Amino acid sequence: MVKLTTIEIARLYHGRKSASYHGRPAWQAKCPVHRDRSPSLSITEPERGKTKVHCFRGCDDEAVLAAKGLKIADLYVDVELTPETIQRMKRDERLQKLERRLELAIMMIALEPAHKNYWRAVERGVRGDIQAMREADDPNERFQREIHERIQREGFDKMWESVPQEMP
Ligand SMILES: [Zn+2]
Repeated sequence: MVKLTTIEIARLYHGRKSASYHGRPAWQAKCPVHRDRSPSLSITEPERGKTKVHCFRGCDDEAVLAAKGLKIADLYVDVELTPETIQRMKRDERLQKLERRLELAIMMIALEPAHKNYWRAVERGVRGDIQAMREADDPNERFQREIHERIQREGFDKMWESVPQEMP
C-alpha cells in the first residue's frame, strides 16, 4: 500500500492548483483514462488525510487510479490524532469558515448596495476575527498591527518623538 497525501497524488497526475473546493485545496489534471484535451480530472482533499480523484467525463475511479498504479486504499493517510493535531484541525476549520464568510461579505457589498453598511460591518468583524487568530499564532503579527495602528492614529512624526531618547 502506498498511502499518499493529496499533494503527492496531485503531483503524480501533474495536477495544477485550482480554486479551492469548499474551502479546501484542489487540483486539476488531465485524465489518464480517456483522451483528455482539457483537464477534466479533479483532485481534492474532502477532509484531512483523505483524497478524492474524480473524472468529470465519467471515467471509473478505479481505472483512473490504476493508470498511476494506485488503489482506492492508497487515498487514505493515517493522521495521528494528538491533542495538537485536533486543535490545529479545529483551528484550520474555523479559519476556513471565516474566510468563506469574508468572501461572502465582500460579494454581498457588491450585490446588495442597499445593505452595504451591514455587510461592511460583517466584513470588518470577520477581518478582526481572522487577524485575532493569526495573532494568537504569531506574536509578531500583533506587534506589527499595533505599530501600524499607532502610525495611523498619531502620525509617524509623533510616534517617532515618543521613541525613548537613549535610542541611537
Ligand atoms: Zn476520464
